[in-house]
Amino acid sequence: MTDDLARDHEQLLEFLYACPVGLVEFDATGAILMINPHAMKHLLPLAGARDPGNLFAMLQGCAPELRNLYDDYPKDRGTICDGHRIAVDIGVGPRGKDPKVLACTLVKLAPGRAIATFADITVQVAQERRLRQTETWFGSLISGINDYAVLSITADGMIDGVNAAFTRQSGRPIEDVEGQPLDRILNVDMAAGSPSLCDQLRLAERDGWYLDESWQQRTTGERYWCQRLFAMRPETGDACQPKGFSVVLRDVARDESDTSDLRRLLLFDHLTGAANRTHFLQLFEREQRRWQVSRQPLSLVLLDVDFFKAVNDLHGHPTGDVVLKQLSQVCIAMLRPSDLFARLGGEEFAVLLPDTGLDEAVAMADRLRAAVAAMVIATPDGPLRITASFGCATATEACASVDGMIGLADGHLYAAKHAGRNRVHARVPLSDVA
Ligand code: GH3
Ligand code: MG
Ligand code: MG
Repeated sequence: MTDDLARDHEQLLEFLYACPVGLVEFDATGAILMINPHAMKHLLPLAGARDPGNLFAMLQGCAPELRNLYDDYPKDRGTICDGHRIAVDIGVGPRGKDPKVLACTLVKLAPGRAIATFADITVQVAQERRLRQTETWFGSLISGINDYAVLSITADGMIDGVNAAFTRQSGRPIEDVEGQPLDRILNVDMAAGSPSLCDQLRLAERDGWYLDESWQQRTTGERYWCQRLFAMRPETGDACQPKGFSVVLRDVARDESDTSDLRRLLLFDHLTGAANRTHFLQLFEREQRRWQVSRQPLSLVLLDVDFFKAVNDLHGHPTGDVVLKQLSQVCIAMLRPSDLFARLGGEEFAVLLPDTGLDEAVAMADRLRAAVAAMVIATPDGPLRITASFGCATATEACASVDGMIGLADGHLYAAKHAGRNRVHARVPLSDVA
């Protein structure tokens, strides 16, 4: 009997270890009691310098809310969250790669004991995003029947067919276009974080289609906003017919609300209007590559609202939302157009400062700090004031990667919190105003 039990136990452990879903058992402090290899694969790269023996510590960088979700759960057992999405793409991959997203479910088994599951839903999320794009695309097809230009291209991106509407749209005669590589004819909006044409074709091949939009220029010099759809050419079954794509191009008025909605949805956070995490990481990666070539200074500031949980607890979540919106407005108004203000998650924001050295970045962070501390937020309970803590980093030979810079700025931010909050830390503490 004891042998049977031991064998059952061993089989259960074997199952947990072989299970294709990440499983972690942990206690009320987040200390890990059991973790299977699948969970380790997902979580260890996120731990950085933090304690790999504690689930909340490991996820502090990308899902600090898990600790609150656990702490705030009132019952002794039950589902704390189901399929909670965590964007974990601090280590950005090559351009065109979708940001990694994990779905996390937390189940409380007993007081002080819970199980977390982690599943990689990156592909599903990317497909949902593209589905939203398609809805917008087809919505605009129905609402504005204009002229459509159609190109056909080979699998390696060479144009092998063009319709007359393309000449009307772009001003280019057909004979100037056929036989040319597509990337010589079409402009890609890299600033808005679009993948390269080559990556767009790769995505169209994977999913059957890909949608994008960007400015294009007619031969007259006039610019127009162009939505485009890449679709895999249907297989004919004829081995001699090479694989290829159809490209549909639509000339749309730039201020069409569907277009701006689409861009806002994809690139900006819905609550604050700050750039979203994906957009931030894409532009950061691009700026980092520029630094590798030009060595033009590039700095990063991370900021985190102090005691924000208390704002929610004392004044309610809607007031917390107003704080985040107002803080974003104040910061965006103080930055240059070339700077990027982004919401990385919760009450944590980042400012990417191209052509800015560390001293200037620290000075800017301190101006932002003072402006945030000077904000007065009107609430039903009366005026509310908040502060934020800041950490800065600049690209150097020793620390040039996106990951490295985020890690460094995060470390300084952590130090600013520990030194008493409402201050900026970089090399040395700058503003100890507490
Ligand atoms: P610290 O000074 O150490 O940063 O303390 P804190 O309370 O700000 O830090 P903590 O990370 O514990 O709390 C962050 C809180 O932010 C918890 C979470 O409920 C809240 N939060 C996250 N996203 C949102 C949001 O979109 N709106 C509101 N109102 N609250 C949010
Ligand atoms: Mg905070
Ligand atoms: Mg935080």
